[in-house]
Amino acid sequence: MQEANLQKVYLSLGSNLGNRIENLRVALQALEKNVGTIDSLSKIYETAPWGKLDQAGFLNLVVCIRAFLPNPMACLTAIQAIEQSQGRQRVEKWGERTIDIDILYWEDVIVCHHELTIPHPLMQYRKFVLVPLADIAPEFIHPILRENTRTLLDKCPDEGAIDEWL
Ligand code: ADP
Ligand code: MG
Repeated sequence: MQEANLQKVYLSLGSNLGNRIENLRVALQALEKNVGTIDSLSKIYETAPWGKLDQAGFLNLVVCIRAFLPNPMACLTAIQAIEQSQGRQRVEKWGERTIDIDILYWEDVIVCHHELTIPHPLMQYRKFVLVPLADIAPEFIHPILRENTRTLLDKCPDEGAIDEWL
């Protein structure tokens, strides 16, 4: 298949339980196998928890993948299978997790479905999404808000700590 024909998908990955860097590595490997080829990868960031504050910090990154899957719903199914295989348990909303994978963008497609909203509805409020996204897609325009990543980041009210992870 020609690279150019594949869908460009942006995913946000986060982990705050167990061996966080290993969890991210395993998830990226599984994404390459089950979703598509990695096109670009942000730096990795250590971030304060968001929403539910009494838990360990996260490692976060954003990856752009050339997906060989036919549509966003197939991508959701694939990423949920990866979360499951890495022992993700849904206990509490925004609670701790070995791995969380969210779909930020699927090209500039808009999806409003009870199981899937794209662009991700909270991404503009989260520095742990926008900072890594700005590494690899600073000019990408949010198809609803009509602003690029840099501008979304400038306007983002999130004051949680975020540092490059070494
Ligand atoms: P959160 O990521 O908000 O901490 P979960 O990972 O448990 O929570 O996801 C909860 C639900 O969010 C999933 O079951 C999925 O159906 C739904 N969802 C809606 N939009 C998206 C998206 N863009 N990416 C990933 N999941 C999504
Ligand atoms: Mg999620």
